[in-house]
Amino acid sequence: MSFRRDFITKPIFAWARTVLPPMSDTEREALEAGDVWWDADLFTGNPDWSKLLAYAPATLTAEEQAFLNGPVDALCAMLDEWKITWELRDLPEEVWDFIKREKFFGMIIPKEYGGLGFSPYAHSEVVRKISTRSVTAAVTVMVPNSLGPGELLMRFGTKDQQQRWLPRLADGREIPCFGLTSPEAGSDAASMIDSGVICKGNFEGREVLGLRLNWHKRYITLGPVATLLGLAFKAYDPDHLVGPSDELGITVALIPTHLPGVEIGRRHVPAMQVFQNGPNWGRDVFIPMDYIIGGQARLGQGWKMLMTALAAGRGISLPSLSAAGAAYAARTTGAYARIREQFNVPIGKFEGVQEPLARIAGTAYLLDAARRLTCAALNQGQHPAVISGIMKLHATERMRIAIDDAMDIHGGKAVIDGPQNYMGNFYRSVPVGITVEGANILTRNLIVFGQGAIRAHPYLLEEMNALGEADRARGLDAFDKALWKHIGHSVTTLFRAWGRNWTGGVFAAAPDAGAATRFYRQLSRYSSAFALCADMALLTLGGALKRKEMLSARFGDILSELYLLSAALKRWQDEGRQKTDFAALEWCMATGFRTIENRFSEILANLPNRFVAVILKFLVQPFGARVLGPSDRVVQQCAELVLEPSAARDRLTPDLSLIDDDRGVARLEKAFVLVTGIEDIAKRMRAAHIHDWREAVKQGVITQAEGDRLAAAHEAVAKVIEVDDFPPEALLPQYKKPAEVHRFFQELGEQRAAS
Ligand SMILES: Cc1cc2nc3c(=O)[nH]c(=O)nc-3n(C[C@H](O)[C@H](O)[C@H](O)COP(=O)(O)OP(=O)(O)OC[C@H]3O[C@@H](n4cnc5c(N)ncnc54)[C@H](O)[C@@H]3O)c2cc1C
Repeated sequence: MSFRRDFITKPIFAWARTVLPPMSDTEREALEAGDVWWDADLFTGNPDWSKLLAYAPATLTAEEQAFLNGPVDALCAMLDEWKITWELRDLPEEVWDFIKREKFFGMIIPKEYGGLGFSPYAHSEVVRKISTRSVTAAVTVMVPNSLGPGELLMRFGTKDQQQRWLPRLADGREIPCFGLTSPEAGSDAASMIDSGVICKGNFEGREVLGLRLNWHKRYITLGPVATLLGLAFKAYDPDHLVGPSDELGITVALIPTHLPGVEIGRRHVPAMQVFQNGPNWGRDVFIPMDYIIGGQARLGQGWKMLMTALAAGRGISLPSLSAAGAAYAARTTGAYARIREQFNVPIGKFEGVQEPLARIAGTAYLLDAARRLTCAALNQGQHPAVISGIMKLHATERMRIAIDDAMDIHGGKAVIDGPQNYMGNFYRSVPVGITVEGANILTRNLIVFGQGAIRAHPYLLEEMNALGEADRARGLDAFDKALWKHIGHSVTTLFRAWGRNWTGGVFAAAPDAGAATRFYRQLSRYSSAFALCADMALLTLGGALKRKEMLSARFGDILSELYLLSAALKRWQDEGRQKTDFAALEWCMATGFRTIENRFSEILANLPNRFVAVILKFLVQPFGARVLGPSDRVVQQCAELVLEPSAARDRLTPDLSLIDDDRGVARLEKAFVLVTGIEDIAKRMRAAHIHDWREAVKQGVITQAEGDRLAAAHEAVAKVIEVDDFPPEALLPQYKKPAEVHRFFQELGEQRAAS
């Protein structure tokens, strides 16, 4: 007998059981997938910064580094994105062979199965570098290493399945793809109608128990060329051959694409990206039971398996490509803004250009910081589901902003397509990243906070599990314990949030981090306000918060900012608190704080329970949103990081593929070095009011050698600002093109190589 439990908790327990919205199995499995990590600390309202700073940064082994410097560089040198996209519409045969031979498809497969056994960080670094040379190749390499047959077999496959398939996947004898999406089931993938009916059938001359499959999938990356299709479908057992249930649920199986009834090969053209992508169909395809990943025992467990695999995969591939995109945009756009002059001034010196340029540089700093922190967690064996969602959403979303800014700053140079355009393909690829692996609108509005609130909250999942407990007495006991811990936590959080927000965070917990200490204090302050507001929203809205997507998205934005900004602080610390990089850190902080404050304002203005909203406003934001974003000084300093060659610029844009091949990026890098090296000479000429370097040499203002350097710089700039043009017949539709036009492209390539 306990007074608290029986007289206070019990009625709350009874009420809460009636209002708890019913949760489908797929929802529960999605919610429970993966682990929580630093996100749980942020949710407590009082993050332990020493823990964050103590996480070991992700590093590469000597073998992984050698792979980056060897096969990855060699692969990059083989790639010509223009030719791949506009002429071949595919990777060249020799590139496919090289990718398979060097085991790019087996990066995550353990060595015992013939794979490379790389860490998540190494996998990320490989994708990152290739992305800066060819998005087509990067997507081709990333897909077999993320959610798909390899990952699912390693986690859930039987020993026999692992021994049979993993070596073949590792060395490219099998090309995998994964088919989840169908025409009727996109974001709501669990609503698929693709089916597998359990029956007996003839397989390789024997009658065996298996499944007869019918499906129509679309948008499947690598699908058109896949030899091994990982397929998600719903399993049915109408004749009760394996048990009493008719419907067994989502199941995943491996389908060799040569089986009768499989139709594969047609292609989509996703935003003019030419990585292999297309639909496929299966009509009465029979597979034996042991083609189900994990065997018959895993019938109906497909959704859980997929969600678990997604919890890690989403944190690597697209965030790596996006971080690469932002760094690539920072390096190239900074260089272009420095060498391109209008009104006799480098365009990067205009404040109007500096604003987007700072945004690109700041975004590059932030995204790579978050990528590294997430990889550090993955390297430690964590599968942080909420963080992976944050990474997928924000990395792709912010890459879109960085690439848009890069396009604007380049002006016509990036708009005009051709072999000399080094930005256009990244630009076209952006919507792909936004849409795949959980489209961004859905991820922002439904997943980040929806999953975060339950998984990362210190007590909510415990309470929900207690409420769902079939044994009522046991449920009440567990609920009583969780609820009172929760109430104690909420009261502490309320006073903490009030104190911190009324004092502007100056007394909030922070490590001694030099100039960045104040940023930790602000994050501690926001974290406490977040924990309090989230609790109150959950209390007043309960399950209805799921339908309040706009509110959920704003909470998700705050949680995301807290994570991304923590990562930026950790990066600055791990890189030895570089003074020059502080501008980038400051830009990230001011921009993130502005978002956080605005989102709090929007939440408080829209929370349906106005009484609670007024109290919360009094406690956490009595004077409204007050951060305006980065000052003009910070914007200028941040933009300048990419306008001059420096160690800071190299730190901001490390390990990109910068092959000296006299094409777009190589020409730009060369011009940048030459132009920034003649600043003094140009200054002297300007002071003497002489524009022609020959005249300046004649008048003794500069030496002949200096004149030669000026001429070389001007020539290099002229080569960069060139754009492509084509004879009209070269742009005729493919089907109308005479053979000579095909030859034209070949000659054009040869001419360019010769020039
Ligand atoms: C190039 C490319 C490659 C792909 N590769 C693969 C692959 O290899 N394997 C595979 O299985 N699939 C793949 N996909 C499919 C991809 O995962 C889906 O496109 C994605 O899940 C979205 O589905 P949909 O396109 O049908 O959009 P829809 O589901 O129709 O959604 C349309 C819009 O509505 C939003 N939305 C939907 N529901 C909600 C909600 N409840 N709240 C708020 N917003 C919502 C979405 O965010 C989206 O913006 C690929 C897609 C593309 C374009």
